[in-house]
Amino acid sequence: MTSLKLARRVTDIRVSPSTAAAQRARDLRAQGRDIVDLTVGEPDFDTPDPIKEVAIAAIRSGDTKYTPVNGTPALRKAIRQDYATRLSIDCADDQICVGGGAKQIIFLGLMATVEPGDEVIIPAPYWVSYPDMVIANGGTPVIVPCVEADRFKLTPASLEAAITPATRWLVLNSPSNPTGVAYTADELRGLADVLRRHPQVFVLSDEIYDRIWYADFSAASIATVAPDLADRTLVVNGVSKSYAMTGWRIGYAVGPKALIAAINKLQSQMSSCPSSISQAAAAFALTADQSQVAETVKVYRARCEATCASLNAIPGISCLQPDGAFYLYPNISGLIGKRTPAGKQITCDLDFVLYLLDSEGVAAIHGAAYGLEPHFRISTATSMEILEDACIRIARACGNLT
Ligand code: PMP
Repeated sequence: MTSLKLARRVTDIRVSPSTAAAQRARDLRAQGRDIVDLTVGEPDFDTPDPIKEVAIAAIRSGDTKYTPVNGTPALRKAIRQDYATRLSIDCADDQICVGGGAKQIIFLGLMATVEPGDEVIIPAPYWVSYPDMVIANGGTPVIVPCVEADRFKLTPASLEAAITPATRWLVLNSPSNPTGVAYTADELRGLADVLRRHPQVFVLSDEIYDRIWYADFSAASIATVAPDLADRTLVVNGVSKSYAMTGWRIGYAVGPKALIAAINKLQSQMSSCPSSISQAAAAFALTADQSQVAETVKVYRARCEATCASLNAIPGISCLQPDGAFYLYPNISGLIGKRTPAGKQITCDLDFVLYLLDSEGVAAIHGAAYGLEPHFRISTATSMEILEDACIRIARACGNLT
């Protein structure tokens, strides 16, 4: 028998913990258990019909061929207009790239720039994929813990302390998965001041949740507050979250020409281009009337606020009010050390999520997966009914701890 020798880039990374937790929930459901699944980080809404109609029309009219590597002219125009209107970024056509999801664009951006020995600063808690993407590309993730007292945000002092001559990137994600917190313009100015002293550091600003916004301050991007850093800023976005289009796989970015050219070169050898049909739909989504987005944001906000309030009423749990996105990241310090009815001690957040799943059928993801314990992450992109039921179950599970 021939044994398969896997490359280090595969053996060194994990399967996404959120995928693993979702699978655990699906397996239990298949066994007949009543499971409330709060692991899934995607809108529960369907893609709006007018977007689907554009895709169907694209198929019918023969819009079914390879597109330019950097996306169709229509989609690039829509992205350029969107960045100009919302971020005041005036970008040229060769500063835009389009890929199969923001995830692919981030991966290609790292692949184009990171070599062994290069460091990428990732503030924790972070989206689970960033460190593994860095490792898969031979780099070293440098995790910088951010404390809850700072609303989990990177401070200029901790950024300064983390930068070395080997730093290639700072990854920012605002609003954040898993916390929902967002940086204010002033906070971003403070980080930009540090970056100005270190010209070797590029910024990857992942703004995929920027339309799902609840805070009473305005959404801000480092690209807007520090236009002088434009030659080292990559602003990533996509249609997955805002337009309930996760399965369509369209993400994009705006950045310096040389970096965008490198991403496009990699894409030309990897996938040629994302789906022509999805690109037609995404171009429409970005340019059509945005009132449906506003309506869904209202729904997300009501769910987030109600769930946050219910969690905060549970002794042992405390939860920050998010500024956007559709996640909550409750702190469970008050439950560590307690015992389950079966006598097992809760020593970490993984113990807690396994107990929640086992005792009440609530599937959530442990905070350690996001680089900051003891927390758990839930997605609130599900119905209010399910969220209410989940909170009752979580309260009961916590109440049974001694
Ligand atoms: N960034 C963050 C912070 C995310 O949460 C996600 C999706 N989970 C992505 C990027 C990727 O989105 P997509 O590839 O669907 O565009």
